Amino acid sequence: MPTLFSKIIAGEIPADVVYQDEHVVAFRDIVPVAPVHVLIVPRSEIGGLASLPESGDHTHILNAAKKIAETEGIAETGYRLVFNEGVDGGQTVPHLHAHLLGGRKMSWPPG
Ligand code: 5GP
Repeated sequence: MPTLFSKIIAGEIPADVVYQDEHVVAFRDIVPVAPVHVLIVPRSEIGGLASLPESGDHTHILNAAKKIAETEGIAETGYRLVFNEGVDGGQTVPHLHAHLLGGRKMSWPPG
């Protein structure tokens, strides 16, 4: 079964795509929790960090985050990159993704 994010990547479900390359697709979260809230998703269907191969998509996700932060105008002010993993981590979509959050001051600790 393709994941929700695989359907978005395939164009079967519409999304506001802000960046894509051969490794990742990034689109705005449908329920943004910050002025900038972009999901960075590897094209390969990896369930989460637990199943990410050691030589997996880490670099591609981080490189995309840096580029998107620039284009979204938050590289200077700062931002947060979040991976929710598993039940306690709050993961709801079982396809590895990073949340790029910015445009407001973040609090700590996260809820
Ligand atoms: P998680 O909770 O797994 O870390 O993050 C999943 C994210 O996907 C949530 O922030 C949720 O708002 C977002 N999301 C769920 N369904 C859709 C959708 O159909 N389109 C988009 N753009 N985002 C979605």
